Amino acid sequence: MTSNLTTVSYIGAAILFILSLGGLANPETARRGNLLGMVGMLIAVLATVLGPRVSVDGIPYVVVALVVGGAVGLFAAKKVQMTQMPELVALMHSLVGLAACLVGFASYVDTSVQFIGAEKAIHEVEIYIGILIGTVTFAGSVIAFGKLSGKIGGKPLLLPARHWLNLAALLTVIVCGNAFLNAQTIQIGLTPLIAMTGVSLLFGVHMVMAIGGADMPVVVSMLNSYSGWAAAATGFMLSNDLLIVIGALVGSSGAILSYIMCRAMNRNFISVIAGGFGGGTSAPAGGGTQPAGEVVAVSAVESAEMLREARSVIIVPGYGMAVAQAQHTVYELTKLLREKGVDVRFAIHPVAGRMPGHMNVLLAEAKVPYNIVLEMDDINADFPEADVSMVIGANDIVNPAAQDDPASPIAGMPVLEVWKAKTSIVMKRSMASGYAGVDNPLFYKENNRMLFGDAKTMLSEIFGALKG
Ligand code: NDP
Repeated sequence: MTSNLTTVSYIGAAILFILSLGGLANPETARRGNLLGMVGMLIAVLATVLGPRVSVDGIPYVVVALVVGGAVGLFAAKKVQMTQMPELVALMHSLVGLAACLVGFASYVDTSVQFIGAEKAIHEVEIYIGILIGTVTFAGSVIAFGKLSGKIGGKPLLLPARHWLNLAALLTVIVCGNAFLNAQTIQIGLTPLIAMTGVSLLFGVHMVMAIGGADMPVVVSMLNSYSGWAAAATGFMLSNDLLIVIGALVGSSGAILSYIMCRAMNRNFISVIAGGFGGGTSAPAGGGTQPAGEVVAVSAVESAEMLREARSVIIVPGYGMAVAQAQHTVYELTKLLREKGVDVRFAIHPVAGRMPGHMNVLLAEAKVPYNIVLEMDDINADFPEADVSMVIGANDIVNPAAQDDPASPIAGMPVLEVWKAKTSIVMKRSMASGYAGVDNPLFYKENNRMLFGDAKTMLSEIFGALKG
């Protein structure tokens, strides 16, 4: 393939990626967006492998790498449960970071291309920044994977001198950068480069370890953004324009997502990243006032009775719905209630579940019509008019302590005000807390009922009782 044809293919692929992002912005067009992205990626890979930058001798290596990588990806995607998706995404971000880091070292020690003067300086800056972003992304994503999969506890690790440690890491990176750029030989330059990599590795680990449970959504989207910038840095090191474009697209859309997540959680981005710096919002999970009162448990039949009597029902799905894989049963019940003339709508909190858009994906999979699925800001004011609010496996996103208890670790986070409905029914298996590890006073409210059990089983029982 000639260099011109490769360039044209790259432009076509870049347009497809932009259209793909546009499609992914809306559930109705998301499937088409995914398809456009896949076609774009196929064109990008073919144009790169068959382009002038890959020699004929190199093609077998690329093909082997594609087959092995593709097989691992296919196996992981087939095997992974829907609830493990966020961990898989974190793991994939870590691979992008690792790739940027390895490409950086390979470009530095590669003597086949010689740069001189300003070009050499620019190339070395690209390498240094690429390895820095790549290493932080890699280390942070591995820790995020550990936290999301429960292998590492959700409590923030707040070292006493953490801000000083971060400052020391920053200074070391600057000093090493100076030594690296002034190194006369590759051998001399490798020492500050390796030192900086070690420091970035520790910084990435420390950064994510310091983040408390409820702030994880911001970290997930932030690492998403970092992985984009790491890919863009790889593009600069390899002089691959398409990789720069894709990286910038992912990096900036991840940054916008981080901003949206911060707004949704009423958090300051800097204080989240610095682990509680300047706002004191990331107190260790478990703090706050203990709820008082009694919990009233109900059966599925009693819940069905309440739903039968209702005119307006708002369903709030959370992580537990994903665990129970209850989305299809939820929709069966919704259809039945709507047939009986009940107005049923869904309220979606921006951080419900374990990844951005988690609930929308599950409800779309179950074919719930989009017009009855509403975002938090569009439905929160309607709870006082609802007869029943039905919470399915959600906890932190419906916790009134976020509004009432300034000492709570989730204080200030906007929540769905389910307790304002005439009656709220919370469906979960026990009194256990949610991801943030905080007690939930909602369970003890006078108008709240607890329906203990697996969400899917309970919903099937309600469905059976309503049908009967
Ligand atoms: P939570 O984690 O707060 O609560 C989920 C609840 O589901 C648990 O209390 C659990 O209680 C219940 N549950 C689990 N399995 C089942 C089951 N089979 N049937 C019924 N209930 C079940 O989830 P939310 O969606 O309310 O909130 C999301 C949390 O995750 C927030 O703290 C958010 O910050 C965090 N987070 C979100 C991310 C995102 O991008 N969306 C990323 C990372 C973290 P029990 O064990 O008693 O059944």
